Amino acid sequence: MPRKCCIPNCNSNYASAKNSTEKVYVPVFQFPKDKELCEKWKKLIPRKNFIPTEYSAVCIKHFEPACIPTGYVYKDKSENTKIFNYDRPKLKPGSCPTIFSGQPKKLNKVTAPNRKSPDSRRSEILARKEQLNKQIELTKIEADTIKDYESFKTAVSEKVQNFNNSRKTDLQVQIKQDFILIYFFDFDTMRCKFYIKTDVDLTPKIYVNNIQLCINEIQLILLDSNKVNMWSKLEKILDHLLNKDFMVSVESLVEDIMEKIETIKNKVMLEDNSEEKIIRISILCEQLALIFKEQKRYSPRMMMNSYLIYMQSKKCYEALRSNNILTLPHPKYIQQLTASLNVSPGSSLENHHMKLIGSKLKEEFDSSSN
Ligand SMILES: [Zn+2]
Repeated sequence: MPRKCCIPNCNSNYASAKNSTEKVYVPVFQFPKDKELCEKWKKLIPRKNFIPTEYSAVCIKHFEPACIPTGYVYKDKSENTKIFNYDRPKLKPGSCPTIFSGQPKKLNKVTAPNRKSPDSRRSEILARKEQLNKQIELTKIEADTIKDYESFKTAVSEKVQNFNNSRKTDLQVQIKQDFILIYFFDFDTMRCKFYIKTDVDLTPKIYVNNIQLCINEIQLILLDSNKVNMWSKLEKILDHLLNKDFMVSVESLVEDIMEKIETIKNKVMLEDNSEEKIIRISILCEQLALIFKEQKRYSPRMMMNSYLIYMQSKKCYEALRSNNILTLPHPKYIQQLTASLNVSPGSSLENHHMKLIGSKLKEEFDSSSN
């Protein structure tokens, strides 16, 4: 005689059901021997003050499918996964009945086969949180990344507009085929205070008061790479440039002047074709650069000139150096050179010596200027 189900409104294995649709035997499970688990069942079952006996049972219909494995998974000798099917349903340890048709829904909700320990649950929650944070971080980075020139072109106007709104400023954007300008026009001075010209490869050239910032100065802002590959980087640059105390470094100013001197040289070459002037301009240019260089490197022409002055008069050479009139190599350096050429100051400057030095230095000069 199969056991009947004790759940109200369930007629599993009842004789009255025999002639209706319920003709087959419905598997049932006895109340658990474990006291704690048994109490749980009692609380879940929608029967007030129910005291189960050793004959009381709950049928399979009140358990989630996950609570009733049909077999167990194992590996055979050759490591193949196999399933051993049970001949009758078994209840997973710790399972509780949770499905009661016609009962309020909240009762159905309590399902807890194999309840995890608080510790493992806590670490699970932590891991899930971490995963979520990682995802948020990834999404943020993705939204911040400027993939290529096209995506820069598409979004730059809106981004600069947002920047303007938040900083109460008025930066302008000009989008061209192969570069994008972001600039700040100062209406007090009627001059462009700064502009950023970004090329197709996303490298920026930054100009402040029409002076191009040298790469070192940009790298201070761009940090790792010298490309505008993140919107946050662009914001940083703009903030930096908008800062009222912002001054162009001496390094950038020198580079700017060197570039302008180069323009002068080219113009003189074209219009005047005066080698004399070009030499003098070149010497000025080199002298200017030498003032700011920690490690002095002299051009072959400068070496040749220094050598000539030193050979003419050691005193004159020392005076030019000590009075800061010109930046010239240390006498030791010249002495090394003279030793290698086997001449000494004061000795008569014979023509063949000069020719030798001249041709040697000219060789060096030609190869370095190529
Ligand atoms: Zn039942």
